[in-house]
Order: sequence, then C-alpha cells, then structure tokens
Amino acid sequence: MKNNNIDFDILVVGGGLVGLTVALACGQAGFNVGVIDIAKPSDQLAGSHDGRASAIATASFRMMRALGVADALEEGRGNNKDTHAGPIHQILVSDGQAGAAPSPLNLFFDAAQISEANDGEPLGYMVENRRMRHALHAQTKKQDNITWIAPARVSDIDASTEKTTITFDDGKTLSAALLVAADGRNSFVRKKAGIGVTAWPCNQKAIVTTVEHELPHSGIAHELFLPAGPFAILPLTGNRASIVWTETPRAADAAMALDDEGFGAELARRFGDFLGWVKPIAPRWCYPLSFQHAKTYVGDRLVLVGDAAHAIHPIAGQGFNMGLRDAAALAEILVQARAEGRDLGSEFTLAQFESWRKFDNTALTHACDVFNKLFSNNLGPLKHARRIGLSVVDKLPPVRQFFMKEASGQVGDLPPLLRGEKYS
Ligand SMILES: Cc1cc2nc3c(=O)[nH]c(=O)nc-3n(C[C@H](O)[C@H](O)[C@H](O)COP(=O)(O)OP(=O)(O)OC[C@H]3O[C@@H](n4cnc5c(N)ncnc54)[C@H](O)[C@@H]3O)c2cc1C
Repeated sequence: MKNNNIDFDILVVGGGLVGLTVALACGQAGFNVGVIDIAKPSDQLAGSHDGRASAIATASFRMMRALGVADALEEGRGNNKDTHAGPIHQILVSDGQAGAAPSPLNLFFDAAQISEANDGEPLGYMVENRRMRHALHAQTKKQDNITWIAPARVSDIDASTEKTTITFDDGKTLSAALLVAADGRNSFVRKKAGIGVTAWPCNQKAIVTTVEHELPHSGIAHELFLPAGPFAILPLTGNRASIVWTETPRAADAAMALDDEGFGAELARRFGDFLGWVKPIAPRWCYPLSFQHAKTYVGDRLVLVGDAAHAIHPIAGQGFNMGLRDAAALAEILVQARAEGRDLGSEFTLAQFESWRKFDNTALTHACDVFNKLFSNNLGPLKHARRIGLSVVDKLPPVRQFFMKEASGQVGDLPPLLRGEKYS
C-alpha cells in the first residue's frame, strides 16, 4: 500500500522488542513501514545490551510462530539439540525467607491441567532478550517493505489532516499516515505529543543475572516471595536459570557492589540447594522498578504501544507480553481499516485500538501493583493471610485454571496473530 503523498504507511519510533514486533506484523500484513531507533542496530544486537530473559506466554509465543520469529528460537527442538526457548511446564509460587524452606502453603500451576485449552503447550517459554532481539531483527530484514532508519534522532513531529511528518536532528523529514511510539518508558514521542502519565514508585530494584546449577530444573519456574520482594528462578535451556531478584534500592545497590564471590554467596543463600550447587555465569544488571501508565494511548495520527504506553513491575513477567498484545491488536485494526478504505491514522481507527487495549492493560497494571504490595513485606498477619490465600487458590481448581490461562495469555479477546493466524 503506497500513497504518493507520504513516504510510509506507518513509521515506528523505537526498534526495541515491541517496536520490532509492530513493524514485522504490519510489514507482513503488507504495509510499508519505517523503523527509527536512536541506537545503532549493531549496539542493540551486542550481547552486552540486555541481560534479561522474558517469560513469553503461550499465546505470545504462538504469535512469534505466526510471524516466523520462533523458527530461530526453536531450531533443533525434537532433535535433542539446543534451542533458545526453554519451556515453562510448571510454576511454583511460595512465601518464604532467605535460607529457610519455602512455606508448605503454596500455589502450583501445571501446564498439564490446562492442556486442552493450551493445545498441549507449556504455560510459556523463557527466551533471553538478546536471542529474541536477534530473531526479530533477522525476520524484519527479510521484509522488503520494512526500512531501518538507525541510528537517528527525531527532533520534531507535526501531524496534519493528511499525514504526520517527523523531522530528524539533521533537518531531514519523513512522513506517514500513522506514527507508532514504541520508544520505551521515557518515550520522547509521548512527551512531545503532550501525553501525560500516571506514575507511582515501588521502592524496589531488580537485580538480573543468569546462573548455572547442578541439577535439571525440569521446566519449573519458582517465584519465592521474600520480605523485600519476589526472587524468581526462571528456567532457561540447559541447566541454566534467569534470576530476577527484587530488593529495596539500598540492598540492591549493596548487592551490586559485592565482589563476584560475595554476590554468588548471597544469591545462593536465597536460591537454596534444591538444584544442587549454583553459580552466576553472566554479568549482573540492575533495574529501578516503578509503575507508569499513559493517560491516553492515542494522539493526532499517533498511537502508543509497549512500555511507552505502560511500564509495570516484572512480578508476573507480563510487560513484554502486554506489548505483544498491543502489536497484534494494532496490526489487526490497521488491516481492517485498510479493508474498509479508512485512513490508518483517523481518530476512529485509533479509538478502536485504545478501547481494545487500555482496559486490559490497566487491569493487569493494577493487579501487579496489588500483588507486589501484598507480597513484598514481612508483616505477620499479612504474611499469614497471603499464605492461606495461596493455598486456598491452590485448592480451587477453577480459580487455579483461570490464573493458569491468564499466565499463558489465553484470556480475553485475542487478535488473530495471538491465535497463531498469519498475515502472509
Ligand atoms: C527485570 C525485568 C524483567 C522483565 N521480565 C519480563 C518477562 O519475563 N516477561 C515480560 O513479558 N516482560 C518482562 N519485562 C518487561 C519487558 O522487558 C518490557 O516490557 C519490554 O522490554 C518493553 O519493550 P519496548 O520495546 O516497549 O521498550 P524498550 O525495550 O525500552 O525499547 C525502546 C526502544 O526505543 C529506542 N528509543 C528510545 N528513545 C528513542 C528515541 N528518542 N528515538 C528513537 N528510538 C528511541 C530504544 O533504543 C529501544 O530500542 C521485564 C522487565 C524488567 C525490568
């Protein structure tokens, strides 16, 4: 689709994990897309760019298969060869204290219990962000209708009744019917459009690293609630796990300042010995945590997606999954707009995106906040109540099944990509 008065159908500012997915989904649907990033692609692809791994819900992974991205992540599956997507078969959520055994009152999710709804798939897959970024980059490169514009810095944006025009630092301009802001939680585009956010702190930082351990994890993800916040052990491929260790900012800074031996010992004390010995095998990263939600997701010929629209605590591993749902919904709305001969950037088209995504994202943001507040403390009565709460949910199969379906991304009005349907 090419309108002679504009350079692109869609310009995406921000070629992070969500921006790349938007570009790919829209590119495969036949739109002419430009992706602008402030960073050099080679820097973003360097191993040192991002040490996180993401829990990708089953429905989100189905979307990665539909986009052809999962091929690079699943190479070798079934042939006993290494893949880059570690299945999450079970999740064990428990309340605990460092060095002590987890409370026996816990919550256990098992993919086998929703195997029919989940087509026999696991609850999700753990994928290192660097692997996901490589796979997304490679797939966008295969699309002739996706143009990379990076590194480049946008300095101005001007939306008119016909198109939106962006101006770069060097004075060059590009135009499109629709601008997609996928430039992360400090979004320049969101600020430039004057869209405010509701933001609140959570007085926590997350330390992230990768460990190797002696015994197989069997695809079980552990979320242990310690007094300062959750300590997550997330199963990667091989005998490896991604750690997300939440602490107060002061304790996190102290842990980051430890030498390797001291850090390894503190980590092992929290991890316990249920998987034999454990040792960090990657650099440590530290992320300040907070919640933030844009007051609106849309502006003049503008739509916000991913962390530019909503940035949440990683307690439930949902931030990227929310961004993927944004990408899938946006692609579908734009495909429908084209089929009906509507303007991609019209108020009506964009209002549909907001009504599809904002309620879901708001509900999940607040659920994660409540969950984090409830679990990140050591108050006696609250500790007792949440332990009982966990075991009650554990003993109510319908409630447990609801949470499992939610974790695997199967709840709500799923756009075609999340159902595994392709555009090309
Ligand atoms: C510790 C931790 C663990 C997490 N674990 C999970 C998990 O298990 N599962 C999950 O679903 N989510 C998880 N998340 C959340 C997830 O990482 C984010 O939601 C996701 O990375 C957001 O992607 P994004 O593309 O929207 O933003 P970003 O990743 O921030 O990408 C923004 C892009 O925009 C570019 N950019 C920035 N400014 C400009 C500009 N002015 N012009 C042009 N380009 C610009 C940047 O270079 C970057 O490429 C976790 C988060 C944290 C902190």
